[in-house]
Amino acid sequence: MTKNETTVLVAEDEESFIDALTLGLAKEGMKVLVARDGREAIEIWKESSPDVILLDLMLPKLSGIDVCKEIRTQSQVPIIMVTARGSEVDTVVGLEVGADDYVVKPFSMRELTARIRAVLRRSPTGAEEKGEAAAGAGNSELLCIGAITLDTARHELRVNDKPVPLPLKEFELLELLMSNPNRVMTRDMIVDRVWGPFHTSDTKTLDVHIKRLRSKIEPDPSKPTYITTVRGLGYRFESRPEQ
Ligand code: CA
Repeated sequence: MTKNETTVLVAEDEESFIDALTLGLAKEGMKVLVARDGREAIEIWKESSPDVILLDLMLPKLSGIDVCKEIRTQSQVPIIMVTARGSEVDTVVGLEVGADDYVVKPFSMRELTARIRAVLRRSPTGAEEKGEAAAGAGNSELLCIGAITLDTARHELRVNDKPVPLPLKEFELLELLMSNPNRVMTRDMIVDRVWGPFHTSDTKTLDVHIKRLRSKIEPDPSKPTYITTVRGLGYRFESRPEQ
């Protein structure tokens, strides 16, 4: 049996977009499921367990934000938000409720498929499918610093030996930082490595993810000791955090 094809759930209410996406993604060899409102998106997600969700933020019945929140209570499936130009607030809120990435309308199919492949490559099933443990991700490595343990093979974070669920992008970001302890990682370097070269270098996305990570791993997120800010440059993961 050949590998399962990638199934994409497209939650979108604009017919012209639905047509273009269905056609474009099918051309890339992906199977497309369509939900035309937020409630339907959750129903189809439950029934069909898609590999990735393309989630428009402005949906009838239930907004993309609410859909994302609901799904995140139960699943870490990769979610790419689709936002309208100029709706920066929505974008930030979307990332805060757990979306992995976003695209801004109008976008090219090339950009979209690159984003989809990037999030899939790093998800556990995606890596298996590609037969390449995502570049730089290493194999079954246990990264332990202070009270934090990251199991890169099992995609597991433990803080003080308690498991903490982590969306994909936060996991990748933490993995990158913990793999380079005490090294200043510039914002551009981080965005490039975690979001990929197709991403228009967006430091707001990075900052939101850092904030979310800190809330999960720092004893006091307002005074971070693991992930410290290097003013004007980027971030650094401290191998000997001050307690
Ligand atoms: Ca819409």
